[in-house]
Amino acid sequence: MEDQSVLVIGGGVAGLTAAALLAYEGISVTLLEAHHQPGGCAGTFRRGSYVFDVGATQVAGFEYGGIHERLFRHLGIPLPPARILDPGCLIDLADGSEPIKLWHDPQLWKEERRRQFPGTELFWVLCEQLHKSNWEFSQRDPVLPIRNSWDTGQFFKALRPFNLATGCFTFFTVADLLKITGCNEDLRLRKFLDLQLKLYSQESSDRTAALYGATVLQMAQKPLGLWHIDGSMQKLSDRLVDGVLSNGARLLCRNRVVGLKADQFREQWIANVIDAKGRAVEFQARDVVFSLPPQCLLELLVFDELLDNYRQKLEQLPKPTGAIVFYGAIDRSHLPTNCPTHFQFAVKDFSSLFLSISCDGDGRAPLGQATVIASIFTEVDEWFSLEDSDYQCYKQVWLSNILDQLNACLGIDSNTWLHKELATPKSFAKWTGRAKGIVGGLGQHPSVFGPFGLPSRTPKRGLWLCGDSIFPGEGTAAVSQSAFIATRQLMAERGQIIQVAK
Ligand SMILES: Cc1cc2nc3c(=O)[nH]c(=O)nc-3n(C[C@H](O)[C@H](O)[C@H](O)COP(=O)(O)OP(=O)(O)OC[C@H]3O[C@@H](n4cnc5c(N)ncnc54)[C@H](O)[C@@H]3O)c2cc1C
Repeated sequence: MEDQSVLVIGGGVAGLTAAALLAYEGISVTLLEAHHQPGGCAGTFRRGSYVFDVGATQVAGFEYGGIHERLFRHLGIPLPPARILDPGCLIDLADGSEPIKLWHDPQLWKEERRRQFPGTELFWVLCEQLHKSNWEFSQRDPVLPIRNSWDTGQFFKALRPFNLATGCFTFFTVADLLKITGCNEDLRLRKFLDLQLKLYSQESSDRTAALYGATVLQMAQKPLGLWHIDGSMQKLSDRLVDGVLSNGARLLCRNRVVGLKADQFREQWIANVIDAKGRAVEFQARDVVFSLPPQCLLELLVFDELLDNYRQKLEQLPKPTGAIVFYGAIDRSHLPTNCPTHFQFAVKDFSSLFLSISCDGDGRAPLGQATVIASIFTEVDEWFSLEDSDYQCYKQVWLSNILDQLNACLGIDSNTWLHKELATPKSFAKWTGRAKGIVGGLGQHPSVFGPFGLPSRTPKRGLWLCGDSIFPGEGTAAVSQSAFIATRQLMAERGQIIQVAK
C-alpha cells in the first residue's frame, strides 16, 4: 500500500502548526525536533526563578479571526491566556523628544501621530488604505508565490478590483510612499519608520516593500493588536503540541535530521536522523514539510540534477541577519513608573535596542521582580570566524556594550542586575539549529516580498517549505500562515481541500 505519511522537520511554531493541521486531517504525521523541547525562536528557557523568552516576546494574530485564533479554533484547542499590549511599544528616538506610543485604540494612535509627526497624515492614510486592501486579500487565503494552476486559482479567488489598484505599489518601498505623500523631508518620521520597520522586516524604510510595511505599521491597533502571553511564550507551543498529539501525530524531540533525500523509484522521502539515544535512524514518508530556514537545506538535502537551479537559488538568497540578546532580571523598583512592557530605544552604534519587560505576576519572575530582554541585530559571519577564546572575549565586550546602553536607557547602574547573560548567533545556532544562527527570515525588500519570495512549493514533488523565510515572513503569526499555505497545498495535491472557518 502507498505510504501517505508526512514528516515535519522542526518543531518551532511553523512546524507545530503544520503538524497539527495535517494530523487533524487524518494524516499520519511524525514531527522531528532536534531540541529537547519544541518552540524554537518562540521557546523559553529557565534560570533559577526566572523564565526567559528566547526570541519572540509579543504575538499578533490572537484577535478573533487572526491567524493563531482561527487555526486554534479549527483545531479545537484554546489559545493560551494573553493580555493585549497597550501601548504595543514605546519608541524613544533618543533626540530628547517625547517617546512615541503605539496605542491600541486607533483614534488615540491617530492623535498621537498627529502630535508627533504633524503634517504627515496623508502618508498614514495611504498606509491605512494599502493595509486594508492587503488585509482583506490575506483574509481570503491567497497562495503566494504562485507555482502551479492550483496556486493560481487560490490567488485569483482572493483577488478583488481594489487589490489590483494597490498591486500597483508592488515595487514601491515605504520611502517611496513618503515621497509620494510629500513627507520625505520629515527626518523624525523617517527615523521612527527606520527603527520600527527594521524590527519587522529586517530592512529600513528605503528597502522595505511598501505593501509589507503598510501592514506592519498597523499591527498594534484594533482590530488587530500585539499580545503578551501569560506565563511564557512556551505556552503557545505547548498548546500547539496538544493539537499535534491529540490528533494522533508523533512528536519526537531530541531527533536531529542530518540528511534528506528523495527515493525516486518509490516516490518517498528519506530523512537520516540522530535519535534521542544517539543512534542513526531512518524515517520515510511520502511528503516532507521542512520548517527550518531554507538555507539549512544546503547542508541537509541531497541535490540531484533536477534541483541544481534550486540549489543556486538558495545559495543566492539575500544574507539574513542574526541577533544578540541580553537576558536579565531586576527588582521592579528600579524600573520607571508605569513602565510599558515593550520599548525601542534608538542607540548610537547599533541602531536600536528592543526591550521586553515582564509584567508583575506574569510567571516570568517572582513578584516584585522583572525579566528584561534586550535585543539588537548583528552580522552572523564574524561570530563564526573567531577562535573560542576570542569569541568569549568578544561576547564579554558586547555584554558590557549592551549593559552600558541599557543602564543609560533605564537610568540604573550595573550592580542592580540580579541576573545577566548574553546570547549570540552562536547560541541561536545551537538552540534553534538555524544555519549560523540567522533569525527572522529574509529582509522584506520588494524583490523578495510576496510574489517574488521563496514559495512553500518546491520544484521537487513532496517537499514543502514553511517558516519565517517563506511568505508572508517572520513572526509567529506569519509562520503559522506559511504553515497553513504549505499544508493546504500538500492536501490539495492529495485531492483534499482543507476548510478552515473564518
Ligand atoms: C530575538 C528575536 C526576537 C523576536 N521577537 C519576535 C516577537 O516579538 N514577535 C514575533 O512574532 N516574532 C518574533 N521573532 C521571530 C519569531 O520568533 C520567528 O519568526 C518564529 O518563531 C520562527 O518560527 P519557525 O517555526 O519558522 O522557526 P524556528 O522557531 O527556528 O523553529 C525551527 C525548529 O527546528 C528545530 N530544528 C533545527 N534544526 C533541526 C534539525 N536538523 N532537525 C530537527 N529539528 C531541527 C529547531 O530546534 C526549532 O525548534 C523574534 C525572533 C528573534 C530571534
